[in-house]
Amino acid sequence: MHQLTLAEIARGLADKKFSSEELTKVLLARITQLDPQLNSFISLTEELALEQAKAADVRRANGESGALLGAPIAHKDLFCTQGIRTSCGSKMLDNFKAPYDATVVSKLAAAGTVTLGKTNMDEFAMGSANESSWYGAVKNPWNLEHVPGGSSGGSAAAVAARLLPAATATDTGGSIRQPAAFTNLTGLKPTYGRVSRWGMIAYASSLDQGGPLARTAEDCAILLQGMAGFDPNDSTSIDEPVPDYAAGLNGSLQGLRIGVPKEYFGAGLDPRIADLIQNSIKELQKLGAVIKEISLPNMQHAIPAYYVIAPAEASSNLSRFDGVRFGHRCEDPKNLEDLYKRSRGEGFGAEVQRRIMVGAYALSAGYYDAYYLKAQKIRRLVKNDFMTAFNEVDIILGPTTPNPAWKLGAKNSDPVAAYLEDVYTITANLAGLPGLSMPAGFVDGLPVGVQLLAPYFQEGRLLNVAHQYQLNTDWHTRTPTGF
Ligand code: GLN
Repeated sequence: MHQLTLAEIARGLADKKFSSEELTKVLLARITQLDPQLNSFISLTEELALEQAKAADVRRANGESGALLGAPIAHKDLFCTQGIRTSCGSKMLDNFKAPYDATVVSKLAAAGTVTLGKTNMDEFAMGSANESSWYGAVKNPWNLEHVPGGSSGGSAAAVAARLLPAATATDTGGSIRQPAAFTNLTGLKPTYGRVSRWGMIAYASSLDQGGPLARTAEDCAILLQGMAGFDPNDSTSIDEPVPDYAAGLNGSLQGLRIGVPKEYFGAGLDPRIADLIQNSIKELQKLGAVIKEISLPNMQHAIPAYYVIAPAEASSNLSRFDGVRFGHRCEDPKNLEDLYKRSRGEGFGAEVQRRIMVGAYALSAGYYDAYYLKAQKIRRLVKNDFMTAFNEVDIILGPTTPNPAWKLGAKNSDPVAAYLEDVYTITANLAGLPGLSMPAGFVDGLPVGVQLLAPYFQEGRLLNVAHQYQLNTDWHTRTPTGF
């Protein structure tokens, strides 16, 4: 039963082959048995899950239907869940029980999903390896000595290990697409503003976006359907109608213009990944797509710009964690300043502290123009490159990551080495564009992802292309040994 996708679960429930309660019990037992190897969950919500599963079964018995009604999922632990710990992977929020549900959580609950738990993540979503979590590193089910990617590494490892069919995640600079690539999943970062950020603990507000992690594009379509839509509580949420994503999966790819940026294939890309990307291009050509070489000339400036803007926004967002209102508070503070200093010093881990310092520096008087303002100008150039490219092509294709998942600890002493691994993903966040990663093969037994980018609000196009690709390839069906 644990092998079923969301689409198969919906059919099984509709055909009364099993109940949501039965399925939920199977998955909870599987998590208890296998997760100690992976560390993909921070909290399990067994009671809530069984309650929601029973309620979904009653709704189905009363004639209701819906692709998510009774579907077990988990939420990345930065989506606020009322009365349930929402830690953001940090000691700072280890004692924090959210007073309300994030919009994503309440929308999915209303659609009938069953929350199995909250998944592990890099502290405050800062990282590409899921090693900065206060709750310990997450392991990659494809090789337990390797990282699962980050920051949504818990969601990715759990779905890849068949502990559950799909999970929510967030992507500020690649945290849905990169762990999807590292664990053989399909992950979609929607257009900025497509999914509400209300109740999603902020890292870098102008870049953060929630989205689905699942094994197939079809399942991403189902989960995104439940997450997307206008939310008056989020001032950056966009009031655009949400299309029927599942209905759009079967469009023909005949004549689809795919742009392949020449800058993507420079030094730094593992040649074995380059070969797999070429194979995926050939596969899409067989389906009727037309390939065009394009250029994104400002791509080389994206990492430095991102690693100024994201920490700058983080330093501002994280100033609310001061030991006064909620979160960790130090013992016996001598005075107010001591309270701030020690609460933050004890509550935040090294990577978070590094980013706060970099961000505060970049925003300080005298440096603002040289760093923050300059980075914002580069951001516009990156966006303009995409706008020019999308005049000529429908989709942009390339690798999701330059290398497969690295060994645990391999980049711990050199944070910049990890930052450089984000080269293909962060441009979509700087521009606010939707992006998807899907399985494209293996290197040394580790999964490799191919990334597709589309114009604003063309999530449906990404899902359509990925679904057609998956109907003709079987990479996404491969299961890690032992799971
Ligand atoms: N790796 C990037 C960072 O550390 C992106 C993280 C994310 O998307 N949340 O900032």
